[in-house]
Amino acid sequence: MDAPREIRLPVAGLTRLTTLDFPERLAGVIFLQGCPLACGYCHNPQMLTPRRGETAEWASVRDFLERRRGLLEGMVFSGGEPVMHRDLPAAVREVRALGFAVGLHTAGVYPQRLQTLLPRLDWVGLDVKGEASRVETIVGHPGIAPRLAQSLDVMLEGGVDFECRTTLHGRDFTLADIERLALTLAARGVRHYALQLARHDQCLDPRYAAPVPGGPSRADLEGLVARLAPRFETLALRA
Ligand code: SF4
Repeated sequence: MDAPREIRLPVAGLTRLTTLDFPERLAGVIFLQGCPLACGYCHNPQMLTPRRGETAEWASVRDFLERRRGLLEGMVFSGGEPVMHRDLPAAVREVRALGFAVGLHTAGVYPQRLQTLLPRLDWVGLDVKGEASRVETIVGHPGIAPRLAQSLDVMLEGGVDFECRTTLHGRDFTLADIERLALTLAARGVRHYALQLARHDQCLDPRYAAPVPGGPSRADLEGLVARLAPRFETLALRA
C-alpha cells in the first residue's frame, strides 16, 4: 500500500485561540497564503501571492493540534482564499480525525471545490463582496461574478450552517447599495449576515487608505442594521 501523501499547505499564520471566528466554539485559525482576488481594501496584500508550502508547515500545525485536543473545539481555515489549495481537503480530513469541528472562511471563488468540501465542514463564513453588477470591480477580477454567485447557491442548498459577510468601504458602497444587497440576501434565505467596516491601514489599493467623504457613516450603518435586523436571525455590524 502507498504511504499517505504528505500535505503541503502555505501556512501564513496561526491564531491559537479565538472566540470570534467560529460561532459558539473555542477555536484556532489557520491562515493559508494566496488569493486570486484583489479587493482594494484588502489589508493583507502580502498574503495574496500563492506559494506551494512545505510539508514541515502542515506538520507543525498538526503538532499544535495534537497538543490542543480536548482544549479547543474547532479549527477554522482562513486566508487568503484557502479553497484555492489542492491539499485543503486532506488537511480538513486530518483536523476532523483529530476530533475538531472544522470551519472555513472563503470568498467563494471555487464553488465546485466548496461543494465537494461541504460535507466535511461544520460552518462556513462566506464573503459576499457586492451585488453582481458591481462585484467584479470590487474584487478586481473580471468574469468572476458567476462563480461567486454559484458559491452562495452552494451554501443555500448545502445544509451546513453559514454566515454571509460583506466588507464595506465608501468607495464600493452607498448606504442604498448596502440596503439593497442585504434585502436581496434576506430574500434568498440567508439567515446570518455581518457587515464589516473596512480597515484603512495597509490597503492593497492606496485609494482605500481613507474613508470617502460623504460615504456611509457608522451612525448610518447602525440605523440600517436596526431597520434590517428583523429580516435575519442575526445581523451584526463589526468594526
Ligand atoms: S480581502 Fe479580497 S483580496 Fe484580500 S484575501 Fe480577502 S478575498 Fe482576497
